[in-house]
Amino acid sequence: MHPLRRWLLIVAPLPILSASWSLTHWTGAQLNASPEPNHVVAVPVAPRVAGLVTSADHANAADGALRLLCDTQAEHWRRQLGPECAVIVRPPFVLAGDLTHERLDDWHQQTIAPAMRALTYRYFSTQPDEPISILLWSTESSYNQYARRLFGDEDVSVYGYYRPQLRTLVMNISTGGGTLVHELTHALAAFDFPGMPEWFNEGLASLHEACRIREDGTGLDGLVNWRLDGLQSVAQAGQLPSLRDLVRRRDFRGPQIGLNYAQARYLCLFLQQQGKLDDFYQTAKEQRHADPTGHDALIGLFEHRDWSRLDREFSSWVANLRRD
Ligand SMILES: [Zn+2]
Repeated sequence: MHPLRRWLLIVAPLPILSASWSLTHWTGAQLNASPEPNHVVAVPVAPRVAGLVTSADHANAADGALRLLCDTQAEHWRRQLGPECAVIVRPPFVLAGDLTHERLDDWHQQTIAPAMRALTYRYFSTQPDEPISILLWSTESSYNQYARRLFGDEDVSVYGYYRPQLRTLVMNISTGGGTLVHELTHALAAFDFPGMPEWFNEGLASLHEACRIREDGTGLDGLVNWRLDGLQSVAQAGQLPSLRDLVRRRDFRGPQIGLNYAQARYLCLFLQQQGKLDDFYQTAKEQRHADPTGHDALIGLFEHRDWSRLDREFSSWVANLRRD
């Protein structure tokens, strides 16, 4: 079969947000300055493949304890949200929001379950043993309103965010399913790779903002997305920070947050295209105590072990990359 025919686009019609795009603005921008929705290419109902772990298997394997914890969490959301919102339990997930039960179930079947299956197959060996709540809001205004009411959160990203202490994803689902997969990556990685370096945590999660989930259940692949434009502008101006600096920096969420996200995302795409991303994940995880930033694991992927050469190769790859 032609590779392109193995996937089906499921993205619902999405609003195109207005773009206000300047390099200065972008490099210092919060994520909510981003102009475009995030897309996922996936299959509506991925077929089960013998031998592959599926979310249904997780549900079957989930002991009664996880189911009970999920039911308790669901009760919590029913009390907090009231009758105008729906709540459903799909262990390890509890979904809630101002959508119908059917729409919540659609999001689970079409995006969350295939993404979890793909992420688990590709990266994660430790499965969640606590509930993950996913709150889906149908409009930007209901999303902002509930973020404020439930958590006191103001000025949040237009797309959605993750509250790690509560294991809760809060999503403006009108911006597409890509952000859901971004935040889901964080939520699942927390069980498998505690202490994941921040640049890699955000690089891998944002790689999945625009991704293709393989129909046969064998993983997912990041695609080029809107974060490339600003990155290329910085690279063309010769101002791209070295990858060694990116990996070691302690101010990932500082003034250059937009650039840091983009550089981390495209470093992950660069590794993916070279077939090195899975190796990097496993090595960085295994060596996390001795190498907490992933510095040694990253340069160790390259025979030359030369950061300057890696910077040149990465810059030239970025310059030649094109939007799909
Ligand atoms: Zn993130």
